Amino acid sequence: MMILKKTSDLSAYIDNQREKGRKIGFVPTMGALHQGHISLINLSKNENDDTICSIFVNPTQFNNPEDFEKYPITIDHDIELLEAAGCDVLFLPSLEEIYPANFNNKRYELGKLDTILEGKHRPGHFQGVCMVVDRLLAIVSCDILYLGQKDYQQCLVLKKMIELEKLGVTITIAATVREKNGLAMSSRNSRLSDQEKKQALCIYQSLESLKKNIQPGDLTELKEKAINIISDAGFVIDYLDITDINLNPIHNWDGQINLIGLVAASTNQVRLIDNMMITS
Ligand code: AMP
Repeated sequence: MMILKKTSDLSAYIDNQREKGRKIGFVPTMGALHQGHISLINLSKNENDDTICSIFVNPTQFNNPEDFEKYPITIDHDIELLEAAGCDVLFLPSLEEIYPANFNNKRYELGKLDTILEGKHRPGHFQGVCMVVDRLLAIVSCDILYLGQKDYQQCLVLKKMIELEKLGVTITIAATVREKNGLAMSSRNSRLSDQEKKQALCIYQSLESLKKNIQPGDLTELKEKAINIISDAGFVIDYLDITDINLNPIHNWDGQINLIGLVAASTNQVRLIDNMMITS
C-alpha cells in the first residue's frame, strides 16, 4: 500500500490511474479503524480497480473541543488493517494540506438536515463534514464514494452536498457492522470501559425493541419503552426518534412506509450514535 501525505502526490497518482481508465473507489475516515471501516474498503475493492482510503481527524466537524482532543489515534494499527485488506493507497494529509492558508470557506445549504437530530445536537457539525468531504473529493477524484449507514444522516447530508456542488460522484452505502452482541462498531467504543461497553448495548437493544414491537398506529408508547431501555442502563439520551427514510418524524404509523429508528446517547463524555431500519 502506498502512503501519500501530499495533495500534489495523490493528484499525480490519480491523474495517472485515470489516464489508464481505472475506476477509483474512495473511503474517507478519521482513523482508529475497525471492521466497519474495513467493510467499506472490501466493498470498494470489489467494485473498483483502485481503492483509496483517507485518514484525517477533521477539526471543523467537532463541535466539542474535548471530543476532538480525545479522539482515538491508532495509526500503526490502521496501516496494518488497511494493508491486510489490500487497500491501494492511504492518504494521510496534514491539517495544512486539507486547509491551506488560502482555503475558501463556504456555507452549504443543507436545509432541515442541518437542524434536526445530529444537526440539532451538534451545531456546525455537518457544515464541517461537508467542508472536509468537498475538499477531499477535489483532491481524490473518484467514481464511487463509500459511506456507512451507521452515520445515516451524514449519508443524506453528503448526498445533498454532492448534488449542490454538482460533483457527479456516486455514493454506495454499506450496512452497519456490529460486534457479536449487536453493539455498532465505532472508533469511540475504545474510550469505553468493559463495563460501559456492556451498558452501551442498551442502544442496540432499544432499536431492536422498536423493530420487534412496531405496530401500525400511535408510536408514543413504543418510543417511551425504547427510551427507558437506554436510561435504565445509565446512558443519557440526546434523542431517540422514529422517522421515514428522509428523516421526517413519524408519530403515527400507517403500516406502509419504511421507518428508521435513530439514537444518540452518551455516558461519561463518550457519545454514541446508531440507527436501524425498523420495518421492511
Ligand atoms: P469515521 O472514521 O467514523 O468518520 O467513519 C468513516 C466511515 O466509516 C463513515 O462513512 C462511517 O459511516 C463508516 N463507519 C463507521 N462505523 C461503521 C460501522 N460500524 N459499520 C459500517 N460503516 C461504518
